[in-house]
Order: sequence, then structure tokens, then C-alpha cells
Amino acid sequence: LSSSRTLWELLARRADRTPDRPVLLQDDRALSFGELRARAERVAAGLYDMGVRPGTVVAWQLPTRIETALLSFALARLGAVQSPVIPFYRDREVGFALRESKAEFFAVPGEWRGFDHTEMARRLGAKGIIEAYDTLPDGDPTLLPPPPAEGTSVRWIYWTSGTTSDPKGVLHTDRSLIAGGSCLAHALRPTADDVGSIAFPYAHIGGPDYMVMLLLYGFPAVMFEQFALPDALAGYRRHGVTIAGGSTAFYSMLLTEQRRHPGSGKVIPSLRLLAGGGAPKPPELYHAVVREMDVQLTHGYGMTEVPMITMGAPDDTAENLATTEGRPPEGMEIRIVDGEVRLRGEAVCRGYLDPAQSAAAFDEEGFLRTGDLGRLTDSGHLVLTGRLKDVIIRKGENISAKEIEDLLHRHPAVADVAVIGLPDAERGERVCAVVEQAAGARRPTLDELTSYLRGEGLSTHKLPEQLEVVDALPRNETLRKVLKYKLRERFSGA
Ligand code: ATP
Ligand code: MG
Repeated sequence: LSSSRTLWELLARRADRTPDRPVLLQDDRALSFGELRARAERVAAGLYDMGVRPGTVVAWQLPTRIETALLSFALARLGAVQSPVIPFYRDREVGFALRESKAEFFAVPGEWRGFDHTEMARRLGAKGIIEAYDTLPDGDPTLLPPPPAEGTSVRWIYWTSGTTSDPKGVLHTDRSLIAGGSCLAHALRPTADDVGSIAFPYAHIGGPDYMVMLLLYGFPAVMFEQFALPDALAGYRRHGVTIAGGSTAFYSMLLTEQRRHPGSGKVIPSLRLLAGGGAPKPPELYHAVVREMDVQLTHGYGMTEVPMITMGAPDDTAENLATTEGRPPEGMEIRIVDGEVRLRGEAVCRGYLDPAQSAAAFDEEGFLRTGDLGRLTDSGHLVLTGRLKDVIIRKGENISAKEIEDLLHRHPAVADVAVIGLPDAERGERVCAVVEQAAGARRPTLDELTSYLRGEGLSTHKLPEQLEVVDALPRNETLRKVLKYKLRERFSGA
């Protein structure tokens, strides 16, 4: 199956093999592989009637639901170019994505969690608005042109978190996503009896990556539209989830839940493996989870450009699982140059929307510069040691310090500012703004600054949760660049 040229071919081959086995479970609903193919074809026909053709750019901002997977596979069936946008993004990020991708259509959930996405789409001048929540476009699949024959064209535009500059549009092909999903499957080695879970936004690059694994191995996953305990736990128990994914914050949330019920067995009795990644994971957390939750834990390294780079093998030693990101799978070449991790392989993106960015990103031998610092151990395990850039990872979401700083610089009470991430048991990291007060200005308060940032259109999840006002930010001697590590040391315990 992993030799499939396109995602649609992979789905078709899986649906031929095990049409009646479930692939997606959500609340009381179950969708089989056969239904996924049949229903996605009808949606594709409906989209075709609306004017979506092979190569048409369709952005979508949809929650983690069965319908979203159907729409995404329908676009894959048509050979359209799809650009997923995270559901809680607002005008700034959405407007940017629509403009940069030159999307001809934009699929939204209508009003969702108290916010009117259709109204925002109109306000932003989006073309071809498609509401895709409970009902989806529908048409006669016999009228469809054949599915795409090759998987090497760009069919996906994903957005990086915009840590270092504006977000970059990352170009993926069906083949690069199949390669990424194969790497994930190779690391986790699931069986047809497993039950996975998609508790992260389906609009992340991890969405198709995870789907590829389900298609390769023929097992289902539970989808969560809103991930909140205790409902989520009930969902895990009800569907007998064996493999659960998430980021560091997710592990500690489950661990807290486990500690709340001492002596009453595992919080999720069926769970055998926690598999996540995307953010630093303290070794102590690894040991506590494995010991107290009686599960295996494997944690991986990925990025929008390369969804799956390394992941610990569940049967590796505790030492390696606790302190490294695992080994690269077959087909992934890792090289460390001047401390920076560089990558080459089929799962690596084709480049960026902006050709100048692509040119800068790849070295002479075609290796992608990740911007991450790391080293390889004697046994070939990757250890990440830091980042060339500066990012805060709060609840698994990467937040650009620079974006918030740029906005705060414009506030009259702010002379200078550094935004940093501080370790936070619940969120992984929390956003803290350290402000040098402007001469003659009143001392700013957290409420004042957050309502100003809100007014500037910053998404709620990026708002600082802590404010520190200082006389002078610590700076280095040469370039006068702010020394963020000093601020982190100083305010970590605050
Ligand atoms: P931008 O590229 O726009 O500046 P970004 O790199 O933060 O933003 P993402 O692609 O969402 O955008 O994040 C990928 C980054 O997350 C990686 O390059 C790495 O720095 C970090 N990361 C991923 N996995 C891990 C991990 N296991 N441990 C530590 N950091 C990780
Ligand atoms: Mg990046």
C-alpha cells in the first residue's frame, strides 16, 4: 500500500481490502473505509459542480470532524490544491493564508464555538465560500473526471507557526505526505487491532500523516472536535483507544488525571501507547508517565516541512526514550552541520510558496535546514538541543514571540519588550511578556495589554498570561540583543 502514488489511490486500495472496517469514530458515529471512499466521491462531485478542478486552490478552516476528513479526501480525489488553516485562527492569520495561497474557494464551518466563520470569510473578501459542517457539497460521482494519476505535484499548502517571520506556506505532495505517514507507522508499528485517536487539530500536518497510517494498517481512530476532560476520557474508554497522541501538555494532563484516582487502575484501561511530539519533553515526565500510567511513551520530532523526522521505537530502552527523539526511519537522511539539523528524504516538503525562501532553505546537496540545533548519539539517536529561532509552545501550539513583540512595540506604554515562554505544568509553556516601561508612561497592566492585543486581532491562545515590568531588559554586549535565557531564568518561578 505504501507504494501508492496518491492519497486517493491509497484510500481506494485500502477500501478494496477492508471496506467494512471502521476508520473514523466520533461520538456515536463510525465511518468505514468503504464509506470514506464512497462519500468523499460524492463530495468531490459536489465540489466539481461548484467549479473546483484539478489544481484549484481550496483553503479550509474546519474543526476535527469526520466531515472535514471527507472534504479533504474529496479534494484529494479531485486533485485540487488544499490549504488547511487551524480552526481558532482569526482575521490576521486567515487573511494572510487566503492572500498568500490565492485561494479560489474557502470552506468554513459557519458559526462554530460562538464565532461566525462565514462572516469572517466575507469580511476578508474570501472567494467561493463553502459551508462544510453537518452538510457537505454533494453530486453524482459518475460525472467526475478520473482521479490524479501521479502524486508528485504540489497538492498541499500548510502554514508554519510563523516563529521567525510571517508564516511560510509549505508545499507538500501526496507522495511526501504518504512518506511522512509511513515513517510514523514504521515507528509506532501498529496492528489492525489498534484504535488510535486524533485529539489534535485535523488541520495540522499531522492530520493526513495520521490518516496515511490508518490506511496503511487498516485500523480506526477516534476524532475529538473539542478536546476537554472528562468527556475526552469517556470517549477514549468507550472506543477502547490503545494509542493516544498529543503533545507534552497532553501527557501531563493524563498524568494529573491518573494521580487523581490513585489505586483505581488505569485512567484509560485499553491504552498501551502514548505517542506524540512537536515540543520538548522533560525526561522526568517520561519516567513518571511510564511508571504511574502503565503505558509506553514515545515522543517524536516533526515540523510542518517534514511531519515525521524521528520517533522513539516503543521497544527502545527507557534511557533512549526519555532523553532522545529516537532514530530516523529508513529513507530519512539526517546530517548535523554547525550544530544545525539538516534533512533529506521523500517526506521532506518540496519547498515554500515563496521561491526565495525555498532557495534559502535547502543546501547545495538538497538538505533542508531545519533551524533546529541537535546532535546524533553513537547509536544514531537524535538529541535536540535548542532552536536557532525563538518559539513558545503553549498547549502544543507554536506561538511566535516576534509576532506578539511586534504588536506590543506599538503600544504607547511600551519602550521595549521581550516575549518568552515559561515552563508551565498545565500548558507546557505559558506566554510571558517582559516590558520596559516607556519614560513618562503609566505602568501598563496585563489586562490593558491583552485587550490592546485582542483589538489588534491577535488570537486568544497567543495572549500573554503573565506580565513583568522591568527597568531594563538584559542585553548582550555586541549586538545589544535581548538575552531571553536570562529572563526565562529570572521569571520561571514567578
Ligand atoms: P516558523 O517555521 O514559521 O518559524 P515553527 O518552526 O515554529 O515556525 P512548526 O513547523 O509548527 O513551526 O514547528 C516545528 C518546530 O517545532 C521544529 O522545527 C522544532 O523546533 C519544534 N519541535 C518539534 N518537535 C520537537 C520536539 N520533539 N522537541 C523539541 N522541539 C520540537
Ligand atoms: Mg519552522
